[in-house]
Amino acid sequence: MNEQGPYFDLVVERIVEETPDSKSVVLRVPDELKETFRYRAGQFLTFGVTVDEHPLVRCYSLASSPDTDVEHKVTIKRVDEGRASNYFNDHVLAGQTLRVMKPAGIFCLQAHEAPLVLFAGGSGITPVISIIKSALATTSRKVTLVYANRDEASVIFKRELDALSSAHPEQLDIQYRLDSVDGFLDAGTAGALIAEASGADFYVCGPGAYMDVIEEALAANGVASESIFIERFVSPELEALDHPEPRAETSGDPVVTIYLDGNETEVTVGEGETVLEACHRAGLDAPCACLEGYCGACMALVKGGQVEMKRNDGGLDASQEAEGWVLTCQGLVRAGGGRVEYPDAN
Ligand SMILES: Cc1cc2nc3c(=O)[nH]c(=O)nc-3n(C[C@H](O)[C@H](O)[C@H](O)COP(=O)(O)OP(=O)(O)OC[C@H]3O[C@@H](n4cnc5c(N)ncnc54)[C@H](O)[C@@H]3O)c2cc1C
Repeated sequence: MNEQGPYFDLVVERIVEETPDSKSVVLRVPDELKETFRYRAGQFLTFGVTVDEHPLVRCYSLASSPDTDVEHKVTIKRVDEGRASNYFNDHVLAGQTLRVMKPAGIFCLQAHEAPLVLFAGGSGITPVISIIKSALATTSRKVTLVYANRDEASVIFKRELDALSSAHPEQLDIQYRLDSVDGFLDAGTAGALIAEASGADFYVCGPGAYMDVIEEALAANGVASESIFIERFVSPELEALDHPEPRAETSGDPVVTIYLDGNETEVTVGEGETVLEACHRAGLDAPCACLEGYCGACMALVKGGQVEMKRNDGGLDASQEAEGWVLTCQGLVRAGGGRVEYPDAN
């Protein structure tokens, strides 16, 4: 851990315009942070940015591969009215310093022998291309990519993917699908692709509706859950804030002092409620992303009291846990009150 909590300062090496609505940010990782920023194909970085004076925490997958690229590269696609994605596309420049957490995530290339079938849609290609590059460089597994996009202009990494396909014609098969030409991928077509590839490992990352179709087709084909890997590019912060679970407080509920964005607030944490849920219910804009204990976006330092995590699926490592960090999306307050401090995102 460093003096700024979970964040490290990384300088932007350069910006690459990928499509009219997406850009890559290549980060400079200094020698002393090389070990900290070592990653597995498919993992992501979590950024703390300030947009219109509002601190935001967002995850972006590494589109580079630890096996073929020296650089750390993330690629960000604009979301309509999205705050961070448009900030990255409009304002982030080479030479700028960004606040970045170390790599995390479990949507990774596994040490299996099975062929790989990867379904990517739009910006969902970012972790998928990383996995493809590593699979081609380090295994002889057959790789099939089904990559859906709105139209030709929105296909991210087209040139890089075509170069990989030319370099590995026997190993890599790419099926581009354009909504403007082929329509949306339906469950029947997805099911046929899945049936043809029985025994494969299936990776899925893309817009919600696209993922729903693939997941339905995987289930209909009886694919075992051990062979299915899914990454959701959610921004659940808004949903959580818009629909906080109503909860009846009881007089015995612990009260925790929350430090967030320079302010302190007393928050009552109900039984079975996580610290993050309690913050959102109290109207605090506490950061989060995956809500499942693997991304680290909601981590905070326990400065008093006892907070126990329901699960930690890789969002924190042992040294962070030892220092008192918890994933607040998983944190239950065990006794008394306490104090929990979110790191400053700017
Ligand atoms: C593990 C992981 C990896 C990811 N990797 C990538 C990646 O590689 N590339 C990538 O491009 N993205 C990736 N994402 C998604 C990314 O983290 C962001 O969710 C995405 O960029 C949108 O963030 P935003 O701040 O631009 O949008 P937000 O501001 O969070 O807005 C999201 C949506 O909510 C709407 N909205 C905004 N404000 C309000 C409001 N006040 N009330 C109601 N609705 C509102 C917006 O119109 C928009 O449709 C990843 C996410 C995760 C969890």
